[in-house]
Amino acid sequence: MNISEEKYMNLYHNIQRLKKAECHVHIDGALDAEDVLSIIHKKNLRLNLPYNEGLIDSSEKIKQLWRGWGYYKFLDQFGLVTGLMQSPEDLKTIAKNHVTYIASQNIIYLETRFAPQYHLKKGLSLNQVMGYVLEGLQEGAEKTGITTNLIISIGRETDIEKSKKVVKAALTYQDRGVVGIDLACEENNNPPEKHYDAFKMTFDSNLKRTLHSGEMCETFEENLKNIETSIDLMRADGISHAINLRNSEYHIQKMIEKGIRLESNPISNKTLKIINDVHDLRLDYLLNKRIPVTVNSDDPSMWSNGSLTDNLYEVTKLYGLDFLKKVLGNQIKYAFGLNDKEKKYLLSETENQGLFKDV
Ligand SMILES: [Zn+2]
Repeated sequence: MNISEEKYMNLYHNIQRLKKAECHVHIDGALDAEDVLSIIHKKNLRLNLPYNEGLIDSSEKIKQLWRGWGYYKFLDQFGLVTGLMQSPEDLKTIAKNHVTYIASQNIIYLETRFAPQYHLKKGLSLNQVMGYVLEGLQEGAEKTGITTNLIISIGRETDIEKSKKVVKAALTYQDRGVVGIDLACEENNNPPEKHYDAFKMTFDSNLKRTLHSGEMCETFEENLKNIETSIDLMRADGISHAINLRNSEYHIQKMIEKGIRLESNPISNKTLKIINDVHDLRLDYLLNKRIPVTVNSDDPSMWSNGSLTDNLYEVTKLYGLDFLKKVLGNQIKYAFGLNDKEKKYLLSETENQGLFKDV
């Protein structure tokens, strides 16, 4: 091993050991494959891989499905876990296991998310689905000692009436574990304004609003247009991805003026070939401009080397420890579900860790 390899390996382990916060991760993309396999076995399920590729009978086959981007259909990849989250017990178990998985990476504050509209196959109501997931998260939090809050995602392909029902249910859980709503999934042909009436329902509430925006549109202009709509019309508190933000001073200024957190997911973007290289996002430039940059894992079990540590390691290799320290601070300062006292406490826990002594 040469000196630089050793240095990078130490850096990786040091980042892994750091106490961290995560604000953009999806429950159905953040589970341990062995765990999911044991649930399949316990329930005596015989589930097959798509395209007649045989029984899902090992964690390797689960990973093959999860990481088969461009080969398997998106809905099949996520459908394995959403299919297992249809009953009260299963919703609770998977939410609890998700927290255990996250806590194993030394994440002490978690804002996680899921879309309840995909969990109604056995007749549960939206309120029930949210309630059981919140119970599971709470059990996980008690077991691991970490703090969790929940963001309710809306799969944006749905119609506005269903979208409003999701928000109505989310509002009943404000101040009881749900801290925000989110717009997620296929962005093409589903611009943010389609869900304006649903987002409007939260304008006078305690729920924050975040949107997957400027991630996967065909053109640069459409990506920027969705970012602008998210800010001006949808009153975003957070915007995730925003791939082309670096190219528009106008949009950068808008984000800064409103104090909107940027939920960046570098390994997700790179794996899905939305960017060629992590540096394409120019997170260093955006942070220097005073955009509240956060760095997240999105769907860590769906990427090879895709944990929060891996994401932070990639940006730290590029931009150094000072950048890392500021980003970790932002994940707490711009958290949706923490009050000032809680932020102060968590910042004191995370800011003075050994790795930052010389920064
Ligand atoms: Zn996401």
